[in-house]
Amino acid sequence: MTSRYDEIASNLDRVREAVKSAATSAARKYEDITLIAVTKTFPVSDVHILASLDVHHYGENRDSDAAPKASAVPGTWHFQGQIQSNKLKSIASWAHVIHSLDEARHIQALDKVAIHRIGVFLQVSLDGAEGRGGAAPADLPALADSVLGSTHLDLMGLMAVAPLEVSSDQAFEKLATIYGGFKASYPMATSLSAGMSNDFESAISHGATHIRVGSSILGSRPTPQ
Ligand SMILES: *Cc1c(COP(=O)(O)O)cnc(C)c1O
Repeated sequence: MTSRYDEIASNLDRVREAVKSAATSAARKYEDITLIAVTKTFPVSDVHILASLDVHHYGENRDSDAAPKASAVPGTWHFQGQIQSNKLKSIASWAHVIHSLDEARHIQALDKVAIHRIGVFLQVSLDGAEGRGGAAPADLPALADSVLGSTHLDLMGLMAVAPLEVSSDQAFEKLATIYGGFKASYPMATSLSAGMSNDFESAISHGATHIRVGSSILGSRPTPQ
């Protein structure tokens, strides 16, 4: 029987090696890519193991699951789930970065309840589908202006989830084009959050600076979330 520690350590080694080789292939620096371990549905004991393996960025989708973990383990906590207005105050209490903002009313509400600075990624939809969330590319400037006009929020960049219908390369190539245009107008938005367990190598080749990896490090989740 391998221990949970050994299991996570060897998964993490594999992911880190893959990140390194994707970075090298793209003539990019490994240090410029932030690995966010997506700990949603996994127990706080796994977060302690990750911390001991020098992973200090954690991603969560649900406020109620995340809040106790974030108070137990110091680090940089990322919220990447669907935003509900009534949860914003609590999310703002523990999250350092939010990846899933796609509505001006949520940006304004978040700024009102924030008690520390929060980094913000605007989520962009790559296919216009409702389910995965994300704003239309045309709506990004208004959202970015709203972040820039806020008191507590820092504009980090764009985030996207690749649609299932196209290849990840096609999806992230489109994202890179959208991001290139966006960054020309908002040069402070230096980060791009893209890539999950099954497509982070492609995302890195298209410029992702933050990858959100869950199952490749922690194993399959009992309930999809
Ligand atoms: C769950 C989730 C991830 C991690 O997915 P894996 O396939 O387990 O790596 C990344 N980003 C978002 C938005 C998620 O909901």
